[in-house]
Amino acid sequence: MTLPADLPVVDHHCHLSPGGEGVEAARRFSREGGTHLFLTTHNWNHRALRSVDDYRAQFESIESLGRRIQTDTPVSTILVVAPYPIDLLGMADAIGLPATIEVQMQALDLAGQWVREHRAVALGEVGWPHFPIPEDQRAAAQQVFRHALEVARDVGCPAVVHCEDLTAEGYKTLGELARTAGVPAERVVKHYARTYVPSTERSGVTPSFLARKEGLASALDDQGPWFFETDFLDDPKRPGAVLDIATVPRRVAAILRDHPEREERLRIPFVDSVRKLYGFTPERRTEDAG
Ligand SMILES: [Zn+2]
Repeated sequence: MTLPADLPVVDHHCHLSPGGEGVEAARRFSREGGTHLFLTTHNWNHRALRSVDDYRAQFESIESLGRRIQTDTPVSTILVVAPYPIDLLGMADAIGLPATIEVQMQALDLAGQWVREHRAVALGEVGWPHFPIPEDQRAAAQQVFRHALEVARDVGCPAVVHCEDLTAEGYKTLGELARTAGVPAERVVKHYARTYVPSTERSGVTPSFLARKEGLASALDDQGPWFFETDFLDDPKRPGAVLDIATVPRRVAAILRDHPEREERLRIPFVDSVRKLYGFTPERRTEDAG
């Protein structure tokens, strides 16, 4: 099905790897009608990270992959950079917890610098592991996250948060952490939101909903801001761990087929929310580079 020419189709959170499907995955996304990928850095080669230079190399590898996608396909890529919160565990084993905190904070400063230089639009993923970890590591993760919020405040950009699935109570805690750091709660995005929590109970925090069928109708009735995402991992070792890269455009096609009157609602995640948080308006590229 051809999607409306003036409707951008945005996956707000995915990962692509130079060693994975990479450009080809973006091409598949495009074939289904997808137009924009928020490309988030991650440790794609599974090597233990030890220094801020390791993070710089990681950011650069994903940045150059994003450039290749823009050259070789009709898809626009938008970069989101940060030290992945779960890196903290392996790094603590490798170099000790105090040095790990230091490196993660430096990497956040670097990420902030990239946003200032317009090489990226947000910090992400930041936050803490979504599973139980030793208390000293949990405290370290919280310390690093507070620094992430400070950087987001100073740079004036969104922070895309990795954490456990949140209830209204969890959103409240996250909103309070943001406000304490001086960041408007709306600029804090809970990524991989699986449980639909109504906007009145999210304490101002913006959700990025996993693009599953469950909860879709509620999301489409939501006034926003909110986003759609797959969290596609592009990891040959973990196929099917998250949603496929083609999911968002496929859902959009299904929505438009079954409920064409909902087209306007799709402008909330794909246009209005992007403009509100990131300050630009996604548009379909008209030339066909693919
Ligand atoms: Zn992710």
